[in-house]
Amino acid sequence: MGIEYLSTRGTAPALGFGDALLTGLAADGGLYCPAEVPELDLGGLDETSSYADIALVVMWPYVEGSIGREDFTDIVEETYRVFRHQDVVPLVDLGNNIHLLDLSLGPTLAFKDVALQLVGRLLDHELAMRDERVTVLAATSGDTGSAAIEALKNRDRINIVVLHPHGRVSDVQRRQMTTVVAPNVRNVAVDGTFDDCQNLVKAAFGNPQHRAEFGLAAVNSINWARVMAQIVYYVSASLRLTRGQAPVSFSVPTGNFGNILAGWYAKQMGNSTGQLIVASNRNDVLTRFFDTGSLTANQVVPSLSPSMDIQISSNFERILWEASGRDGQTIATLLAQFQSEGDVEVPTDWVGAIRADFVAGRADDEETLVEMRRVYSEIGRQIDPHTAVGLQVGRSLRVDEREPLVVLSTASPAKFPDAAEKATGERPELPSFLSELHQRREHFERTTADLDAVVDQLRAVSSGR
Ligand SMILES: *Cc1c(COP(=O)(O)O)cnc(C)c1O
Repeated sequence: MGIEYLSTRGTAPALGFGDALLTGLAADGGLYCPAEVPELDLGGLDETSSYADIALVVMWPYVEGSIGREDFTDIVEETYRVFRHQDVVPLVDLGNNIHLLDLSLGPTLAFKDVALQLVGRLLDHELAMRDERVTVLAATSGDTGSAAIEALKNRDRINIVVLHPHGRVSDVQRRQMTTVVAPNVRNVAVDGTFDDCQNLVKAAFGNPQHRAEFGLAAVNSINWARVMAQIVYYVSASLRLTRGQAPVSFSVPTGNFGNILAGWYAKQMGNSTGQLIVASNRNDVLTRFFDTGSLTANQVVPSLSPSMDIQISSNFERILWEASGRDGQTIATLLAQFQSEGDVEVPTDWVGAIRADFVAGRADDEETLVEMRRVYSEIGRQIDPHTAVGLQVGRSLRVDEREPLVVLSTASPAKFPDAAEKATGERPELPSFLSELHQRREHFERTTADLDAVVDQLRAVSSGR
């Protein structure tokens, strides 16, 4: 028997991995989390192990019972061959015991590929086993959308509808979504913010009729399988830097809290971990939570790092749930209040538990540019603005310079050429396989931020219009 998955809101049924993969958001509005966290068994692995081998060791206990060992091995090996470096996520030495972990070598140049390339294949496998079809509905602040489309395009058991906030994603980000021509893909530009898009997705999932009519599935970072896939690179970085024998700290440019949450799970599994540093841009709901103990959503302010322009970090619910001692009922009440009032005080013992595992800081646009410029002048490397936020905050909150600090480099600077040019005077070029991007024709629908409009889009893609 494999691990069971429990909803953070306590009333939806416990599920196995395959069902949790297909369900995404739980029927009670909660997120599925593993009922037990398996112990990491690094025996047989060392700093020379392949990424796929590490991935198998880390993820197998989470999927066992839902998928055969051979099928899973094949899927894992095929997934990581897609990446343009043999280490999949290579480390880059910045000096002073600071390293970038380059997560941007997948098809859409952002870290979302690392998990979504796996999740797309897992979904396909699960649907084939069940002889079922689904419609994936996703909201994107820029990078999830293209990574999901790349992972799911032309898969015949899956339709995909992606909502992005109109005018609030970068040109490259939008084109990476809207220039894909595939019969199962539909892009929708919503007049609103990313939080509006995310709320529309939650509203669609919250409606049992829509869920059943379209067979809705989610690949947003609320899907457990994405968090699971991200655990692997924390373990791989620790193996490469210290053979997993001494603590490594991680600084993570954070929006929805999915990426850094995987670092927390790695630590629970026994990965030797120092600080987990939550780095925000000036949309700093999480930094303020660590300062005050309250979650207070402000207006979203556009920044140079748009994939972190978020005031509701969905995955934070998972850490609240663990901090509460898995008190689903209180979580449900608390988050309903946050949803309706934009403000909620978190019980102090929960806050204490979370502060024991994370520290948080913010960097504004000016600090972001300074960091991008500094790295360029020191080692001649362009970094993207999200990575720069992680680096700036990581440097300022790090407590022990003898301990390696790994900054998760979440995107290629070529995705954010305006910011890179502003910082360094040089415009980074897209890799050759994307060089035609600006010539290709775009396809998207534009709608208001309401559920009826989204339902129309779901109908359209389902009926093949
Ligand atoms: C999605 C994204 C983030 C934020 O990651 P979360 O898992 O949402 O915290 C940071 N940087 C880039 C480039 C991203 O695409």
